[in-house]
Amino acid sequence: KPVVAIVGRPNVGKSTLFNRITGSRIAIVEDTPGVTRDRLYHDADWRGCSFTLVDTGGIAVGNDDPLIVQVRRQAEAAVAEADVILFVVDARNGLTADDEEVANLLRRSGRPVILVANKVEDFRDPTPVHEFYRLGLGDPVPISAIHGLNIGDLLDRIVELLPRFHEVDDGEALRVAVVGRPNVGKSSIVNRLLGEERVIVSDLPGTTRDAIDTYIRRDEKEYVLIDTAGMRRKSRIVNATEHYSVLRTLKAVERSDVVLLILDGTEGVTEQDKKIAGYGHELGKASIIVVNKWDLVPKDDKTVVRYEEIIRRELSFMTYAPILFISALTGQRVARILPTVDAVGAAAARRVATSTLNDVVREAIMLTPPPAVKGQAVKIYYATQVKVKPPTFVFFCNRPDDVHFSYQRYLENQLRQAFGFEGTPLRLLFRQSK
Ligand code: GDP
Repeated sequence: KPVVAIVGRPNVGKSTLFNRITGSRIAIVEDTPGVTRDRLYHDADWRGCSFTLVDTGGIAVGNDDPLIVQVRRQAEAAVAEADVILFVVDARNGLTADDEEVANLLRRSGRPVILVANKVEDFRDPTPVHEFYRLGLGDPVPISAIHGLNIGDLLDRIVELLPRFHEVDDGEALRVAVVGRPNVGKSSIVNRLLGEERVIVSDLPGTTRDAIDTYIRRDEKEYVLIDTAGMRRKSRIVNATEHYSVLRTLKAVERSDVVLLILDGTEGVTEQDKKIAGYGHELGKASIIVVNKWDLVPKDDKTVVRYEEIIRRELSFMTYAPILFISALTGQRVARILPTVDAVGAAAARRVATSTLNDVVREAIMLTPPPAVKGQAVKIYYATQVKVKPPTFVFFCNRPDDVHFSYQRYLENQLRQAFGFEGTPLRLLFRQSK
């Protein structure tokens, strides 16, 4: 869903506007300067378009920061995550130097900005709005958030600027790509899953040449299995020398929320397996490593541990992925697959509150500060989560290029320790802040 962010100095009426648009009362209306509260998210609809509205009023992390620093941070966060930015100014108070600074920042970002002049009392008198043209952000839209005046026009402007999202609606279904080399047991696993008790199966129309999509429901939860081996099954060509298609696998992974990477337990991790695993990782998809044919593997009490070590070494870029040892033949642990899919799907969609995130980041920095580069201190001021699937965090700092890779790793580990995120890659981005 596209994101629309509200930015502006305290007391210009951001929360009132937020409530007015979302019809909710969850925002704190007293926009007391210096009060730290979290960003607020709420969905809104207008003329068939739906978007998520964010009130960035709560970004302020350091309570002691001067007001302008706080507002600048809100603006930076909005620029980082929003498709459209509403920059709210106070028509009763007039233009301030802070407004101009934030306007500069927004203009430089190149993001679509709507300049909103709030607290307009008399719509016939254009004078109070005039001076805001100086901000260079186009025509100010006069509104009164408190009286609900001209909000419809504002919403029209928002909707015009939204990117056109064309999502096929499978409802809440998690899309699960089943990928792996030929003969690792993809078809057998899909068959097992479809044959599981309590699973309700139906074919989805619009199946492509690349994969068969099957809709299943289990315990009120919905999934679409994207089965790259299914074409062969459907056409009844039983051919062990089936050609492995990179493109087919890539397309399935692209369309998925969760990737089931199937390995053959009798063969270990091959180069081909690594490549396939890499697609999911690079596309930011949550992954589960499924070691199949476990019934054929001679075992003692250390086999699992040893096997896990091999996988972690060979697929070292995705240590976040849980590993399941299963047998499609006997059905052993197949029932664990869908609950694990639920867990990693949820982790990939998790949003961490900005204040909680910054508590963890501050603590991490206190324990181990970023190493200085050429005698210059590297400072990280605060972080914000800008996306899910995969969870993506922007760290604002003084010298983004000097945050060493190993320190990025450290921060990632701290986030994982604090919030879990099992199964999903994380993205950490470092941006300049003054
Ligand atoms: P796909 O190409 O990845 O779809 O693999 P298939 O599902 O067609 O399986 C390839 C072969 O492995 C078939 O002969 C299956 O019967 C066999 N197979 C699949 N899973 C298992 C398993 O868990 N244990 C054993 N012993 N054989 C399996």
